[in-house]
Amino acid sequence: MTCYRSLLAVPVLIMSMFGASAHAFDISANANKWPGAQALIFTGVPGTSRSGTPWSVALQRAAGEWTEKTRFNFDVSPLYRDPCAGTGPGSLPELLNGIDFRNTVCGNAFNASTLAVTVFFTEFNILGTADIVEADIIFNNNLNFDVYDGPQRPGSNATREYDFQRIALHELGHVLGLGHDDSQPAIMNSTIGNLSRLQADDINGADTLYAGIENCDYRPARFGWVFGSLESGDCRVQQLLSGGSDNSFVDVYTLDLTEELFVTVDLITDGQLDGVLFVGNASLGALRVDEDSAGNCNPRLTGTLPAGRHTILVNTYSSNVAPPCGVTNTGNYRMSVVLQSGDLLTLSGQQSFQGGTANARFFGGVTRNGGQSYTNRVSSIQAFDVRGRIEIDPQHQGQPGFLAVALITPQGEILVKNTAGELVAYQPDVQLVPVSERKVLDAVEDLDILTQFRAAEAGISEIDVDFYIGYGVDSNPGELYFNGQPINVLIE
Ligand SMILES: [Zn+2]
Repeated sequence: MTCYRSLLAVPVLIMSMFGASAHAFDISANANKWPGAQALIFTGVPGTSRSGTPWSVALQRAAGEWTEKTRFNFDVSPLYRDPCAGTGPGSLPELLNGIDFRNTVCGNAFNASTLAVTVFFTEFNILGTADIVEADIIFNNNLNFDVYDGPQRPGSNATREYDFQRIALHELGHVLGLGHDDSQPAIMNSTIGNLSRLQADDINGADTLYAGIENCDYRPARFGWVFGSLESGDCRVQQLLSGGSDNSFVDVYTLDLTEELFVTVDLITDGQLDGVLFVGNASLGALRVDEDSAGNCNPRLTGTLPAGRHTILVNTYSSNVAPPCGVTNTGNYRMSVVLQSGDLLTLSGQQSFQGGTANARFFGGVTRNGGQSYTNRVSSIQAFDVRGRIEIDPQHQGQPGFLAVALITPQGEILVKNTAGELVAYQPDVQLVPVSERKVLDAVEDLDILTQFRAAEAGISEIDVDFYIGYGVDSNPGELYFNGQPINVLIE
């Protein structure tokens, strides 16, 4: 990140004009964009073109073309909103994206060759370029418009009938954050031409602007430790955000939650790297940042996150890194992802030995208080239980079968629980399918994986292990159904 000073939402006015001739200009090319890749526009412009298409219909078609062909979505309201009303500082609650014809740009004279103007307001963003918070389109009422496809009709500024829909298409490109591009044929060329539909360059522009984490290599975060480094060759913030001047390195992680959870993310660096942590939603919106709230210059973010995909960014500064919180903008880090929940965690995904699938669900968690709450982090001196639960496929209920428990250490060593309740090395050549208990399968099988376990007593001070639970039926003894997402236990 670059330095940030305050989170005050002060909208900044930017104007973008579409010209009939080549002296239109544009200053929106710094890649401002809408959080969430969508905007609600009000299309109820009164009146109908000479050829019979209502202006509102032409607007809706133009908006629909962007929505259909790109990652950006225009939500279209048929209502009318005055584009000159309720804009600017102090009016944030009334932010509305209005569209209309006007003889002036809300009081400022139109240039004679300007067809339309998009006025938009941005506010400070915590990372990279500003968010667009309002955009209004004002069509130059001093000119003549109709709605038609194909080549432009003849005439000059004052006499030509301009195609309203392609101008709307162009202005909506500004609304979503695009600047002009005159390098190839495009609706976003700075002057109007014979093109009346979006071109590949327009579509690529919008898709790049809203690619979000797709602009970088990203990988899933897991509960437990995540190890990484910021180093030359990593993605940079300006790549991630498709613009801006922040060239600091960033590692991008996704965190997929099956349910709402209280999550704590800690970042611990090697002492050289000055790390910054961000957590946001899947489209890099609702970003929160921390630099050192865990003390010792270590960032920590906590909060309740809804089910779905979230983004975690490990970042540093583009410049001005100085002690005490680090000396460079490259280096190693480890990040812990810890959950707290009132119940066992629903484990996403399912795996099996032979590629079969069962209509089964897997749950798991670690508890220090007899199941009142669950987490994945415990201290080595605390007694804790590791619990699992399997909702057995109805077709397998009542059948003789078996349960299995396994764990994988950070070194990749696999231990399995035997029928005596001991964790022993997995020996697939001796027993391919591990069995911890043989029984007639119930609808729900609760597994006490570890009970009142104290890591310190086993000589463990710090470890990060993943547990797996599974079951099989005696009629298909080579098959084992088990959880995809593991039950993580992080002992510190
Ligand atoms: Zn323009």
